[in-house]
Amino acid sequence: MIPNTNYNNLKESYLFYHIAQKTKLYLEEHPEAHLYRMGIGDVSLPLCGEVIKALHKAVDDQGEKSRFHGYMPECGDPELRKIIAEYYKKRGVGLSQEEVFISSGASDELGDILDLFGRDKTVMIMEPAYPAYVDANIIAGNKIIHIPSGEKEGFLPLPNESVTADVIYICSPNNPTGAVFNYDKLKQWVDYANRTDAVLLFDAAYEAFIEDEDVPHSIFEIEGAKNCAIEICSLSKTAGFTGTRLGYTVIPGALKRNGMSLNEMWIRNRTTKTNGVSYIIQKGGAAVFTEEGQRQIRERIQVYKNNAKVLMDALDQLGIWYCGGKNAPYIWMKCPNGMGSWEFFDYLLHEIQVVGTPGEGFGACGEGYFRFSTFGSPEDTKEAAGRLVKLLAR
Ligand code: PLP
Repeated sequence: MIPNTNYNNLKESYLFYHIAQKTKLYLEEHPEAHLYRMGIGDVSLPLCGEVIKALHKAVDDQGEKSRFHGYMPECGDPELRKIIAEYYKKRGVGLSQEEVFISSGASDELGDILDLFGRDKTVMIMEPAYPAYVDANIIAGNKIIHIPSGEKEGFLPLPNESVTADVIYICSPNNPTGAVFNYDKLKQWVDYANRTDAVLLFDAAYEAFIEDEDVPHSIFEIEGAKNCAIEICSLSKTAGFTGTRLGYTVIPGALKRNGMSLNEMWIRNRTTKTNGVSYIIQKGGAAVFTEEGQRQIRERIQVYKNNAKVLMDALDQLGIWYCGGKNAPYIWMKCPNGMGSWEFFDYLLHEIQVVGTPGEGFGACGEGYFRFSTFGSPEDTKEAAGRLVKLLAR
């Protein structure tokens, strides 16, 4: 038996392991300490009432012969696909329900979608990046072109005509930097992809956090994107579905390469590799898109946005450079006094018991930067921001 030897090329996923080890050791040495955990990428607020009501009803349906559902359609419940197509319509993006696929979340899709491109492809990944992009492509044996970015361009790299790839990842709002591409910048990527025959994989997991008018929520708000892009989205951060699991992927009918329709290929892929997402979860997901569901999820997102404001105010007060926070649940700050990412991590842990994420863990160009998540509790966020100001103003 010959295993997939590409696994040997994976770097040890040390980031969160290393953070866990360091905090564990600190707590062993200081058992009385309370840690302010500003590193978590998971939500802390529960599902909203509308979703819970829909989930309960769907559970009851499964216990009644006349309302019971077995296997669900592989590409998703047609009703939910229609609801999501309507959601796009409100933003001026016309989609047919057949262009929307229901998934168990963005992570699953980001890995599975590589099936559309075959092996030995070249992919472009802008860094700092969500680590799963890199690892999924290493496992698939693809060649990765790492595109580093920095403060100069606000961590928003633009296309360079001399570098081409088959597949290009774009994450906006970005994890970890919180940076967002506006219409103009995104149009440059769409035009470049259409010129070079590349496919854009647009990760819109944080679209619900966008508040600026000039920032598109969907790549399909950009003219020409239906010929070159796939959008992957999730209810994880939008509606607290990290543990409930539901997402959606849009593959336009117009997206073709070598005469093959990627939408038709994905139908074939899903009917081969899945038996659909749970009926109960899809009913819970549908409740997110009702008027009351939208109102309730907005309330929760606002709590995280208030956390972001508290942290941004602290950094403004200190005169520290950062991006993100306004249209994203992450704040990406420059470590003060030329400190390295891990050095700053240790400093915050030991001096003020605040835990964040060292930027270096998201790619080499993240060295010297640090990520704060805004998904913690308002109380802890306020205390952490206050401690940060006291420490760094010294
Ligand atoms: N994409 C990005 C950029 C993320 O940050 C995350 C989760 O943190 C995901 C995708 C995965 O989302 P899901 O929970 O839907 O798998």
